[in-house]
Amino acid sequence: MARFIFVTGGVVSSLGKGLSSASLAYLLQSRGYKVRLRKLDPYLNVDPGTMSPFQHGEVFVTDDGAETDLDLGHYERFSGVSAKKSDNITTGKIYNDVLKKERKGQYLGKTVQVIPHITDRIKEFIKKDSSKEDFVICEIGGIVGDIESLPFVEAIRQFANDIGKKNALFVHLTLVPYLKASDEIKTKPTQHSVKELRSIGIQPDIIICRSERPIPLEHRKKISLFCNVNIKNVIETVDVRTIYEAPISFFKEKLDLQVLNYFNLRSKKPANLRPWKKITKIILHTKRHVNIAIIGKYVELKDAYKSLDEALTHGGIDNNVKINLLRIDSEKLKVSEIKSKLKNISGILIPGGFGKRGTDGKIAAIKYARNNKIPFLGICYGMQMAIIEFARNKLSLKKATSSEYDKHGLAIIGLMNEWNKDGKKIKGTDKNLGGTMRLGSYDAKLIKNTKIHKIYGKNLIKERHRHRYEVNIAFKEKFEKNGMIFSGLSPDGKLPEIIELKNHPWFIGVQFHPEFKSRPFASHPLFSSFIKASKNHK
Ligand code: GLN
Repeated sequence: MARFIFVTGGVVSSLGKGLSSASLAYLLQSRGYKVRLRKLDPYLNVDPGTMSPFQHGEVFVTDDGAETDLDLGHYERFSGVSAKKSDNITTGKIYNDVLKKERKGQYLGKTVQVIPHITDRIKEFIKKDSSKEDFVICEIGGIVGDIESLPFVEAIRQFANDIGKKNALFVHLTLVPYLKASDEIKTKPTQHSVKELRSIGIQPDIIICRSERPIPLEHRKKISLFCNVNIKNVIETVDVRTIYEAPISFFKEKLDLQVLNYFNLRSKKPANLRPWKKITKIILHTKRHVNIAIIGKYVELKDAYKSLDEALTHGGIDNNVKINLLRIDSEKLKVSEIKSKLKNISGILIPGGFGKRGTDGKIAAIKYARNNKIPFLGICYGMQMAIIEFARNKLSLKKATSSEYDKHGLAIIGLMNEWNKDGKKIKGTDKNLGGTMRLGSYDAKLIKNTKIHKIYGKNLIKERHRHRYEVNIAFKEKFEKNGMIFSGLSPDGKLPEIIELKNHPWFIGVQFHPEFKSRPFASHPLFSSFIKASKNHK
């Protein structure tokens, strides 16, 4: 049976529970254990698919088509294990399940209650599909003390009791602030947070203390004493310069060894930190830069394009360059300013997006990239905009548009409503916004003698999708006659998946999201190639 590690947070949110969990997963894997990571989110949305990226950051998509919290992206990138639908649950999803069951009369007339019905359902999810793992690391979103997270915390308390405390470990991540005015480190918030956790029945086994500066021994002793945790299990995590330093820093603090000690397990082999050290060195010390512009709607919130930022960094690592990102709000981008704003840019990227707002700016920037032969990568909506730009300006189809935001023009991008997966037709619908997209991994066939075929070096690829609209294949010939090649298609040949320009050094649009599959040690070929082209752009 798997051993379960529960990671809760205290004092404030955004302390890096996701990264700490992902780093711990890597270290345990590296010591020879099989690990799975899960996230339990306390909000009422059934999944984050309908949440604005401004509110919640990027929606991460798994191979099996789940729209999940962005922390699952960290998990995948650090552990190399592809996340599944069953690795992210929300309060909304749990209640949805329980209420459906109640409507069907499956509770046999009982009063349906938070305890035991909601907590039982949470416990089922925690345990699901875990028999082959050595460890399951479950991160609880939010912080302890929130009304919303209470059922989850109660469920993990019960769960540990059910499987026996020796098979479950509680890690609590808190903030240990430094007060400049009095030049002091404060342990009180941590003490209070642990008190809160204990009041709902959980005694943490390990406390990870996030701090701006190293925590002196006397303060650690204080935390150990007041929080009733062995001093060796008071682990500090001082702000790192790049996230890739996190596994190195937790290794130095012996977090992984303390976890193994708790479970009476030994390291099967020494932890391998070499890959992290190598990429940290490149990130921190590389002198050469390349300027990349991301032109999108959600640029104000850094987390909105999390996987994209990461994938670009990976592409940079692969080419030994640092990425200088210029984030441009497509809604504010005026046509007259494009030239001056993109003056020093070596690569232009238009990410995924939804709705009309900001499309004019994107289309104008694509025109600029096409005419000035600047490397261009269009992802999902970015590819659709590249199609519209080409149709309007090169094919003189002035009314070319997407029916997503314009019902009266020439819909080169439209709602196809049916996708083929594993021989089965999947029907989309216009009515319900949640879970009605083409989601998850789909195959695409690459056309020989194209740029994309050279980049991937294979005939068939699998990439993750998240969109409702498709490029209408009926226009293929017209585009191809004028220099825009449909270089990747769905296996049945009906859906354009990739476009590229013949007479341009690097201009590619993809209907899928390659950023979800890029890893720090294995940069995605599209990003490596895009950065290489941008590096060579004068
Ligand atoms: N809005 C577009 C669609 O639904 C593109 C979505 C995206 O970029 N992820 O097809």
